Amino acid sequence: MPTDLHPHLAEAHTPESLHEAGLDNPQAPILPGAWLGMLGGGQLGRMFTHAAQAMGYKVCVLDPDQDSPAGAVADKHICAGYHDDAALAEMGRLCAAVSTEFENVPSMSLDRLEQLGAFVAPRGYCVSIAQNRIGEKKFFASCAERTGVSTAPHWVIQHDADIDQLPEGLLPGILKTARMGYDGKGQARVKSRDDVRAAWKAMQQVPCVLEKMLPLAYEVSVLAARGADGQTATWPLAENVHRDGILFSTVMPSRQVSPEIAARAREAAAIITGEMGYVGVLCIEFFVLTDGSLVANEMAPRPHNSGHITMDACETSQFEQQVRAMARLPLGSTRQHSPGKMLNLLGDVWYEFGLERTPAWHEVVAHPGARLHLYGKSDARPGRKMGHVNCVGERAEDADRAFDAALAALHIAR
Ligand code: ATP
Ligand code: MG
Repeated sequence: MPTDLHPHLAEAHTPESLHEAGLDNPQAPILPGAWLGMLGGGQLGRMFTHAAQAMGYKVCVLDPDQDSPAGAVADKHICAGYHDDAALAEMGRLCAAVSTEFENVPSMSLDRLEQLGAFVAPRGYCVSIAQNRIGEKKFFASCAERTGVSTAPHWVIQHDADIDQLPEGLLPGILKTARMGYDGKGQARVKSRDDVRAAWKAMQQVPCVLEKMLPLAYEVSVLAARGADGQTATWPLAENVHRDGILFSTVMPSRQVSPEIAARAREAAAIITGEMGYVGVLCIEFFVLTDGSLVANEMAPRPHNSGHITMDACETSQFEQQVRAMARLPLGSTRQHSPGKMLNLLGDVWYEFGLERTPAWHEVVAHPGARLHLYGKSDARPGRKMGHVNCVGERAEDADRAFDAALAALHIAR
């Protein structure tokens, strides 16, 4: 038997030992005390680690950065690249289950971990769908009959001829790289065919999607979870406001959305999650257009910045749910117990009038209902996500008051 197999297989492959390890039954729960693995050591991995450790699991993080936020709190940090076979073998040997905290982890690495005997949730193919806007849109479209939710009208651009054939009706539009776009990066607004040509050239002619510019009323996201047993759960709708292309604040539940649209978005997210055979936490971003219709924009195969408010406003946070899904535990309740509003803290908060300062955290936490979450990053660069403040209260106005107080304490413009 090869030595890189899961230790339960390599060392004690009797039916009894397989049963004990839960490996003969893909539905058996992985109980506290076991090791859970996380690919990626950013803030999402850090908050996952806290949730997993609170439930009694041990966490192993794989991240090439020696000072990663999750690596600093994990029980074990394997400091290596995501393609590193020895590192994957080590993680596969140690961990009963593995998940990911960012979508650009090589899906091959997830496949490899599965080969090594770990329960991988979400599986590599799910992550690869979410990694590429072309595949992602195709997948949304293939579910549209059941979800009743479409994608933005779009055109795939991979060759010069695709620009020649681009339907005029898609302009003005937004050209987006198929892969690796985030926080509005890898995008260009275009008005004419010549703009598309110039923008595509500037993007090194990588595969792109040209989307029609839509009249957005506002943006919402749905956090969804699916367990290994097929049980799905969604949280109330999150309504998102961006500044300079980066998430600025999230209100949960969305205040603008009608109960009908909210129900349709949650139902659509549950259907998409189920159709993918997804296990874990997933975020789907939707646009609500000025005519009230819903458009699926993109998905992230992991907890999401817009779901951070679940940590203090809901019975189960998105991170605890990620732990539960990968450990094949029953999903927790997604009921929201308190209205909430999240403020993202970017590195800019550490600077005023061009000078570095320590933000007045004592003033932020002085307000009842303000919960401070910092990610332990030492280098506060403008635009870098450093933490967030979750503002909760009995009523929405209470959450707003805590939010406004945090803005004032941190000298952030309203
Ligand atoms: P993020 O990482 O913040 O989610 P992203 O770089 O992956 O962003 P998108 O979410 O697709 O990219 O787009 C960024 C923003 O651009 C959206 O939040 C929305 O405000 C605007 N936008 C994107 N597509 C369209 C469209 N088709 N019509 C109008 N506005 C759009
Ligand atoms: Mg987006």
